[in-house]
Amino acid sequence: MAPPGARTGTVYQPTLVPRDERAAKSFGFDPWDLDPTKAFFLSSWRPVGSGPIEVRSPSSSSSLPPRSRSLSIDLDGQGYCRARNMVLRAWEQVKGTGRFLCRAEIAAAARLADLEARPDLVDAAWSYLTTFGHVNYGVSGEMRVGPDPAADADAAATTTSVVVVGAGLAGLACARQLSSLGHTVLVVEGRNRPGGRVHTKTLAGDGGGGGAAVVGKAELGGSVLYGGEHNPLVAVVDQLGVEREVLVASQPPMYDGEGRRVGREADDEAHRVFHGIDRETRARGRGNGGPFPSISPPPSKPLSYGETFRGLHRDWRAARDDDDAGAEKMDRLINWHVAHLEFAHAQVFDELCLVHSEQDEEQNLTGTHHLVHGGNVTFVAELAKGLPVLYGHKVTEVEYGRRDGGVTVAAEKGGETRRFRAQACVVTVPVGVLKRGHIKFKPPLPPRKREAIQAIGFGAINKCVLVFPYRFWPSDHDTFCFANNGDEEADRGSHFLYHSYEHVAGAPVLVALSSGEAARSFEGKGKEEIKDEMMARLRLMFGNVPDPVACEATDWGRDEFAFGSYSNIVVGSKGETCDVLAEDVCQRVFFAGEATIKENIATMHGAFRSGMRTAGMLHTLCRRGDFSRRAPSSDRGEARDNGPGKVEKYFSSPRLFFGRFTVGEERGGKALVREKPDPAAGRPASQCFLAPHAVITQLLCLRSDEERLDYLSDQSSLVTQGPGDGKGLPSAIIDFLDRGAQ
Ligand SMILES: Cc1cc2nc3c(=O)[nH]c(=O)nc-3n(C[C@H](O)[C@H](O)[C@H](O)COP(=O)(O)OP(=O)(O)OC[C@H]3O[C@@H](n4cnc5c(N)ncnc54)[C@H](O)[C@@H]3O)c2cc1C
Repeated sequence: MAPPGARTGTVYQPTLVPRDERAAKSFGFDPWDLDPTKAFFLSSWRPVGSGPIEVRSPSSSSSLPPRSRSLSIDLDGQGYCRARNMVLRAWEQVKGTGRFLCRAEIAAAARLADLEARPDLVDAAWSYLTTFGHVNYGVSGEMRVGPDPAADADAAATTTSVVVVGAGLAGLACARQLSSLGHTVLVVEGRNRPGGRVHTKTLAGDGGGGGAAVVGKAELGGSVLYGGEHNPLVAVVDQLGVEREVLVASQPPMYDGEGRRVGREADDEAHRVFHGIDRETRARGRGNGGPFPSISPPPSKPLSYGETFRGLHRDWRAARDDDDAGAEKMDRLINWHVAHLEFAHAQVFDELCLVHSEQDEEQNLTGTHHLVHGGNVTFVAELAKGLPVLYGHKVTEVEYGRRDGGVTVAAEKGGETRRFRAQACVVTVPVGVLKRGHIKFKPPLPPRKREAIQAIGFGAINKCVLVFPYRFWPSDHDTFCFANNGDEEADRGSHFLYHSYEHVAGAPVLVALSSGEAARSFEGKGKEEIKDEMMARLRLMFGNVPDPVACEATDWGRDEFAFGSYSNIVVGSKGETCDVLAEDVCQRVFFAGEATIKENIATMHGAFRSGMRTAGMLHTLCRRGDFSRRAPSSDRGEARDNGPGKVEKYFSSPRLFFGRFTVGEERGGKALVREKPDPAAGRPASQCFLAPHAVITQLLCLRSDEERLDYLSDQSSLVTQGPGDGKGLPSAIIDFLDRGAQ
């Protein structure tokens, strides 16, 4: 995570780019730079540099999904980008309203955008953006998963096709997207709650003097939604109709180590010097240092950001003629900014890579930053709703080497081990858990993956949260800063930044952040000691401070389901390390999570987006038939009626007819759609599709049966001939039919 502005996370300026580009960029990609992942939906195409997309001749057309086979061959990059941006723009307009973007609206928008003659481009963009969750994501009524009998996690455990390990934002986003694309998912989570590193805790205490109890909510993990409207989680919050509070952008008050307010002039000067040295440090990283005093010769080994910064700071100090007291005061203030940098990266600055630690800088979402009323639990709970999640199950092993395909995920609960068979699994646990080897992969992960896990940085920041009986801090102090005395490195990050959560927490709640070595030192301390440290600083700053009525302190470094706060780019790693972390293994074990998305590393929206991306990738591979299409195993073991009788019974009371199609009863957010045979069109047998609710609603918007058939082939995860072709039905359809019969 790059430092959010100079100090508080509020100073981003919107980038001045045309509206189209901005929409595309807000999703983190460049219209002219479709990398293989982004171009993935076009399995017969590949991007070449910044020019038009080049055609790669497919070795066999049957390896392509149905949609690609019908794409016209002269697809051009520029035209595609126009179509894609048109869809993104349409989504921008509705995304916060709780509406689902409908294919018919896109057809209308295409007419206005002069793209009517290119339905192939529009279809390609639509297919990619919906599959990879760039549009039509969220929790509004039309997009809800369920009501789903499969939300009974134990029932889902026997029929699942994808196991998602972890119910943090990445896991929840991935599971929802897979589910809406028609896959049967099971989420296995070690904690007894969803959200992972997003955790809103309710703290309560006695108001004193016979007053009512004070109850406040505090974010112990991820709290600020960065990047305003471009953050997909902001859209989710808006869909829920929950209010959000903008973090104020002004320069927050600074206090020195004796608790005196620092004058504006000194504060500005420290700000200016820090950013001057920081700029120069980064320029050194890029190999083009400016006219700053030299720390030559050029490095022969990769340097850390801290080493370089310290050298430049020393040189700057040597060139000053301050008296000792003035110099020390300025150093303390500069050191506060270093603490802020260590907070932004959750890493001590000596370990950060000089060249790559800011690799995500260009991708930072632009816009104001927000806190959510009632806490982030509001959207976490909604994202988890309707999903089958097994809580309290700690995954210990992922076996993916079986000859007959698929994976087996083993999880422990209360000393018992349960095993879940599936076609694939998505691992979303934090890098800290992977580094410690707490999940055993059988066979071991490939060396390149293991190296990436070890290479990437993963460090801690910590919080102390105090709830007070009343607000004693000034009304203009929603954020304020404390420049510590004491040891330059060990102490600079100790309770150095304060946020008032009063406006969103329902009570006077203050959160103090600690970073760098000071955050690491939380591991050896108790809650009381940490509280006393924070109180001592508050009393220095404000004198008469009431005792808090409730207190909480985090220890993310020792949390057994995280072992740290978030990822960072230390010496020996770079953005591409995240790409390796994102790679799947054998198209059976997939990965998501904040560490796997270099553009938005270490953020909540990054985690969310990574989950969507992995779901899209897995779905696309599944449709291409690249990974085992083996039916998921069932633990029930009883003989089952695999014949067409079941289907006939299901369709005996259909719910919907249109054109040649009949739709049966919806179960678990999905239904079977049957097309009547059409011998004239070369389809003598009827076809049956298992389609999610969202796809069925879209069918109603399409104009012809041909379009519907195309869309169904494209969007349904399972297509089969029959019934009546004598081959029996795939077990996923039988599972679906059995589910209703139970
Ligand atoms: C203190 C702190 C402050 C932060 N501040 C911000 C902020 O202001 N803004 C922002 O955008 N981001 C912030 N972040 C980062 C953000 O919270 C994370 O990047 C994001 O939540 C990570 O989501 P994830 O799904 O990748 O991982 P997680 O949320 O960690 O989800 C992984 C899940 O896997 C589970 N798990 C782990 N091991 C196992 C196992 N063996 N078996 C089963 N389940 C397992 C975990 O319990 C967890 O639920 C902050 C993080 C912290 C810790």
